[in-house]
Amino acid sequence: MAVISVLDKSVSELIAAGEVIERPSSVIKELVENSIDAGAKHITVEIKNGGTTFMRITDDGCGMSPEDVPTAFLRHATSKISEKEDLDTILTLGFRGEALASVSAVAKVTVMTKRKEDDFGTMYEIAGETHSELEECGCPDGTTFIVKDLFFNVPARKKFMKRESTEGTAVSQIIQKIAISHPDIAFRLIRDNKQDFHSDGSGSLYSAVYAVYGKDFAHDLMEVNHEENGIKVTGYAVKPLYSKNNRTYQTFFVNTRYVHSKTLSVALESAYENLVMTGRFPACVLFLEMSPDTLDVNIHPAKAEVRFSDEKKVIDAIYFAVKNAMLKAGLIYEFQMPKREWTSPPQPQYEQKPLIPEKPAPEPEQKAIISEPVSTPEPQPKQKQIIPETVKPPEPRQPLPKEDMPFGLPAFLEQAPPPRKWDIPTVASEECIDIDASDDTEEFPDENLPEVSEPVINAPESLPIPRVAETIEEKPLPYPNLKVVGELFANYILAESGETFIIIDKHAAHERVIFERLRKANCKQYQQMLLEPCEILLTLDEFAVMQENAERLDGMGFTFDFTNQPYVRTLSAPVFFAGMNLDEIVQEIAHNLMIGKVNPQSRALDDTLHELACKSAIRANDKNSISELQALADEVCNDENIRHCPHGRPVMFTVSKYNLEKQFRRRV
Ligand code: ADP
Ligand code: MG
Repeated sequence: MAVISVLDKSVSELIAAGEVIERPSSVIKELVENSIDAGAKHITVEIKNGGTTFMRITDDGCGMSPEDVPTAFLRHATSKISEKEDLDTILTLGFRGEALASVSAVAKVTVMTKRKEDDFGTMYEIAGETHSELEECGCPDGTTFIVKDLFFNVPARKKFMKRESTEGTAVSQIIQKIAISHPDIAFRLIRDNKQDFHSDGSGSLYSAVYAVYGKDFAHDLMEVNHEENGIKVTGYAVKPLYSKNNRTYQTFFVNTRYVHSKTLSVALESAYENLVMTGRFPACVLFLEMSPDTLDVNIHPAKAEVRFSDEKKVIDAIYFAVKNAMLKAGLIYEFQMPKREWTSPPQPQYEQKPLIPEKPAPEPEQKAIISEPVSTPEPQPKQKQIIPETVKPPEPRQPLPKEDMPFGLPAFLEQAPPPRKWDIPTVASEECIDIDASDDTEEFPDENLPEVSEPVINAPESLPIPRVAETIEEKPLPYPNLKVVGELFANYILAESGETFIIIDKHAAHERVIFERLRKANCKQYQQMLLEPCEILLTLDEFAVMQENAERLDGMGFTFDFTNQPYVRTLSAPVFFAGMNLDEIVQEIAHNLMIGKVNPQSRALDDTLHELACKSAIRANDKNSISELQALADEVCNDENIRHCPHGRPVMFTVSKYNLEKQFRRRV
């Protein structure tokens, strides 16, 4: 007896439907896409109980003729392709003529549709194997689908549906993505008789993002617009300070199709590396446009996966697009001056934000210097250098001339700080400030002042305060004529530049400066020979990797003697590590270099460098001379990469003179 038999049509229909329709959100996706294809300008989706019992999709698209209605529900029935040559279109856009057949195989569907040119609409009902006759009905132009009791005939599938709230959220997320990718269509979602969201269909991506993710999210965005490797990246990415605690807000579209892609997330996150705290994630709405032949779109209707023929190119495109956006945005957080309530006179004194914000004015194209994604294990990141960069030899730090001293600064700020525990007394330089000269010290009694009898050693080379080492030619300094005017709470450097007041967190800033120097292996000038070299025992692998990286380590301020394998003898170290346990530091670096060798994506070394930078940076309540603060402020303000500490906290804030004057009501 034959054991193979062809499945009954009703069973095979159910199997096929199962591929397309997994849950309410897959129905919504299919039907809304059909409405878009029908040229709709307004699409309203209504669901009840997460869509499990009721879904209604109403559009004002082209509608269907009465004779087309039953055909539309046949498998492989489509008006969108007819020739074999159109197969490419199927592959890229996913027209398979299967959606309506699949939905009606597993749910009770009613359709009402009317073309503009017809006097009457058509109503048709279909549920699994059964369907009604075509009926004339009165209805507006366009199409309405009502889908009830999903999986009424497939109990096994029904069991797989999640809680109604989860299903409802999935529907909401699908519509949000579709709304963002079609800003010219007005979408409305109603969940259990309550409006979930609506977009205005104005054509502005910003408005669509605002409608979907809300005011706060929209406020925190930077515009992205960049082309790299033939890949165009546009949209918005969130400013680093406003990162999220999960990846829900990472939205990518490839050639207008919403996609899920780990590669794209990795690329985005590499652009934010060291700018957001561990456990926080950047958010974005990014559109990638690229040649379709560089893509493998999985057209499984329920999924949104994509593969790229050259991942590296795509990663670079996103990385540089986002980095450029950051540079354009300046990554400076201007203080938000609180609006004050004025009861009388009731004149509006402050800028009123429009309810629906305008798309931010496009800024002039700005070329920028960008470094390679930080995941690259190489010590010297590739510099995307559009503007030539010149490195000035470091100039000896000059004490601030007396007349340049800001108003009423206490004299003790001019004095050399007491040597920190790790200050290595080297040759005192001309920068040494003679404390005897500061007669007015007494006017500012301070317990922490150095004793007059204490020898004051202020060796500039021993202080890990940076100097301006890099100047970008042709590009004006972001903060010209920067002048430190004081220090607040022993931690905040106060400075002015033109019409801008700048507040810098000295610890966060210094931490970032040291971190950058270590990471870029750019601290040779802070290298200090050790009086007593220390020797540690490494594994053979660690020893080898240290040797391979000798040049990089030299740039980081370390030199070693490798003659006594597997011992390494540390001959010199960066001066800002003095006083710290060098054995431990070297051991840790060796260990992390090993990890990085095995797994180039590892951030272990970066994490250690963060930690070292944090430990060696100046701290709140440390006493620093005004010239040290000036040097730090110069380095921080003039390097646009230094806007956050390695943990992602901001390093500086600015307040414009204009804003200040508004607060004092000098301006109305
Ligand atoms: P496909 O979208 O791949 O063509 P579907 O099964 O989703 O297949 O739809 C079948 C056909 O039904 C479409 O090609 C279209 O002609 C028609 N159709 C479906 N939904 C609508 C709608 N909302 N407005 C107008 N026509 C529609
Ligand atoms: Mg379709």
